[in-house]
Amino acid sequence: MVTDTAIAPASKNRRDDESPDRSDRGVALAYSAFMSMSRAVAIVGPDGKLLLPNLMFDKLFRNSDILDRVNREAASNDGRSDCQITLSDGRAFWVEAIPMEDGWLVSAYCMTERSAKARTDTVTKLGNLLMFQERLTELFENPASAADGAAVLGIDLDRLKAVNETLGRNVGDELLCLVADRIRSVLEDGDVVARLGDHRFGIIQTGQPEPQSAAALASRLIDLIGRSYVLDGQLIELAANVGIVLFPAGATDSEQVLRNVDLALLRTKSDGHGTYRFFDTAMDETMQFRRNLEIDLRRALAQGEFALVYQPQFNLGLNGVTGFEALLRWQSPTRGTVSPMDFIPLAEDTGIINSIGDWVVRTACREAATWHGSRTVAVNVSAAQFANPNFVATILSALGESGLDPRRLELEITESVMLDGRGTALSMLQSLREIGVRVSLDDFGTGYASLGYLRSFPFDKIKIDQSFVRGKSNDAVGQAIVRAIASLGQSLGMATVAEGVETDEQMARIASDGCTDVQGYLISRPMPPEQIDDFLLSQNQTV
Ligand code: C2E
Ligand code: CA
Ligand code: CA
Repeated sequence: MVTDTAIAPASKNRRDDESPDRSDRGVALAYSAFMSMSRAVAIVGPDGKLLLPNLMFDKLFRNSDILDRVNREAASNDGRSDCQITLSDGRAFWVEAIPMEDGWLVSAYCMTERSAKARTDTVTKLGNLLMFQERLTELFENPASAADGAAVLGIDLDRLKAVNETLGRNVGDELLCLVADRIRSVLEDGDVVARLGDHRFGIIQTGQPEPQSAAALASRLIDLIGRSYVLDGQLIELAANVGIVLFPAGATDSEQVLRNVDLALLRTKSDGHGTYRFFDTAMDETMQFRRNLEIDLRRALAQGEFALVYQPQFNLGLNGVTGFEALLRWQSPTRGTVSPMDFIPLAEDTGIINSIGDWVVRTACREAATWHGSRTVAVNVSAAQFANPNFVATILSALGESGLDPRRLELEITESVMLDGRGTALSMLQSLREIGVRVSLDDFGTGYASLGYLRSFPFDKIKIDQSFVRGKSNDAVGQAIVRAIASLGQSLGMATVAEGVETDEQMARIASDGCTDVQGYLISRPMPPEQIDDFLLSQNQTV
């Protein structure tokens, strides 16, 4: 510490009245507390010389060269004030030097104490990930301990993030402690519990050979964690999902066990909240498949393997094609033509959708700008793209680069876009609409609380999902729904497009139900851009 790089002593302008008791008695009390602390602590002067050791420091380090060692460490460590020191008798200590008025407070604790600290979650005081991994490794190293059967459970808390965001991190932390208490309350002797991440806990259940007992534990946890909490006068609801791995289930190390827990948990997400799932090796294969697909997908964009095809949208009143919907195609050299249904969901999960979406809108605008007349081009936009703050800028730049009139660009979104509670997506759409871009509500009728969404945004078009259009011909309910949506659209001043029209019969029915537009194989399948002119000519339409 007596080096150029040593830590600077703390500023001296602290006000005396901050100290609650500077009377002789207070000083005597502080001195006595300092001396009798179980941790080794010493006050060191600005010159690096020992001024006042407490009893423990004296006992441990009398005649040792600890201060010289700390000085040297600080010198070679850019003045870093904490380091590990092993004394000549082999004892290892972690030593911290904290700057204070005129010197430093040096405190040392033995590595076993530090090691316990490094394995404890600071919020819940449960073990942490490191501890959990070590216990899992022990299971691998000592198979006898797992001989009776062991299960590893991962518990994922839903809605904790929302609690942190709305009620503050302190409430979130208190909540985690309550959850930890509830988890502890259902464990048996020998079970291990740890907090593995922000909203993740883990349990190693031992000595219970049956999968049923792991399932029973998972159910109890889901039930218990799912009961209300009262904190800060607020009623808080949480939900938990549990992923279970029956040890070792093909895994050969702790990392793989934890990855398998993740996979099982991932499955609970797609199966609904408040559920548990057992890991099985098929999940790993699915994951492997997804990983390979992801690698190929990232490459596809760079290698120019994407193309757009266009499907005409036909207006019944005008008896003509008024626009085209751009649909994405992936021509993979190894996989052949891949349907967007098979790669868009993965692109959404991995964030690749942003660069793909960027490419789609730029390409669609560029190609549509070469069309004669004022036909529109409709582009599908995923909910995930609205999470990107550059979304509006991308659209504006695609319009700018291509010179396409904004009124010729239509964005097709689904109800899931509306689920973002903060309304960011809606305000993005609003600003695009102000410059003339049109917005359609796609796959209408398949989502959630459809009607409410129609009030929250002035859509230009409602696209009625194919399932209502192509239901069985005697599907009276489907027809009633189409009719209701058509009349709703009419009163709200929104166009209504029936999707997936394949037969003359469906077309006649759609027309009599009051839809304004149709799209489907009956008019045409999606086509590559170079066929658009010929198609329009074949329809006796102006090109
Ligand atoms: P969507 O937006 O509902 O598109 C309509 C889908 O129905 C298209 O499938 C189209 O080829 C198909 N279709 C049209 N008419 C008929 C018909 O008469 N009968 C039948 N059986 N099918 C018909 P596609 O091209 O496979 O696209 C599937 C979905 O993939 C789209 O559904 C859309 O959700 C998504 N998608 C396509 N391109 C993009 C894109 O560029 N970006 C994003 N985010 N999603 C896209
Ligand atoms: Ca669409
Ligand atoms: Ca659709």
